[in-house]
Order: sequence, then C-alpha cells, then structure tokens
Amino acid sequence: MDLRITEIFLSIQGESSHAGRPCSFVRMTGCPMRCVWCDSEYTFTGGEKISFEGIFARLEEFGCNLVEVTGGEPLAQKNVFPFITELCDKGYEVLIETGGFVSTDKVDKRAKIILDIKCPASGEAERNHWGNLERLNPDRDEVKFVVVDLTDW
Ligand code: SF4
Repeated sequence: MDLRITEIFLSIQGESSHAGRPCSFVRMTGCPMRCVWCDSEYTFTGGEKISFEGIFARLEEFGCNLVEVTGGEPLAQKNVFPFITELCDKGYEVLIETGGFVSTDKVDKRAKIILDIKCPASGEAERNHWGNLERLNPDRDEVKFVVVDLTDW
C-alpha cells in the first residue's frame, strides 16, 4: 500500500502539549477544506506516492520515536488508517493532526488525536464532524482552536 506524501522530515514539535519534543513529520498531500487562514496550501496538490515501506525507511533513518501524521488532511486518504496501525505496531508514539471534518472512528485507538475545531472565521465551521468530540479520550487526545476574532472566541 502507499500514500500520497508532500514531505517527510525531522523537526521539533511546535504545537500541542508535545511542543518542544523532537518529532518526525509525515505530511500527507490533499485537503478538501479551504480554511481562509490555511498555512499549508502547498499540500493541496502534487506530492509523491510512497509505499508504506518507503515511509518507514525514512522514519527509521530519523530514529525518533514520536511521529506526527499531518497534512493537508491526513485522514482524507483511506490507506492512512492501516498505516497508523502499522506505526503503532512498530512502537511509535503517534500524533494525528486532523482538521476535524473526517470521522476519527477508524483511527487506531493507540494514536493520539490532535483535533481542530473550526471556528466561524475559518469559513469551514459548518464542516466540523461533531461526532469526533464524543470519541476524544481526555487522557490522550487534544483539541485546537484557531481564534481570529471575538466571534470565534
Ligand atoms: S483543514 Fe488544515 S490543511 Fe485543510 S484547509 Fe484547513 S488549515 Fe488548511
């Protein structure tokens, strides 16, 4: 199996309670949303199809146990669900940074969800998949709000 990938890199985690930790990032290509303040429009098109084995080989080179699967929208490609399970099976600590409009139902329960809640100023608030809130595990998962103005607040 493969995934369409924009980039794979090693850096420092900049968001969530994991900020400051070394982290490998797998940035998936594509997102059906169009938040007006999106900072990753370069992921909307292009990318390269890479096999699971190819992605795992890059991650092994980095030698970092923390892996974030992000995008774009990481859950928009159906192959991502078995990929996340394989990451967990290999012993990685896995973060999923999702825009919140795809159901998290099929995400391996060992992965940690970082869930965006889209506020009105994003232009995409009506696409929030509210059922994702009910699946949040308070011991493991986190939520993120980008607040632009008082209406968002
Ligand atoms: S969900 Fe994320 S990647 Fe998609 S448009 Fe919004 S901010 Fe950009």
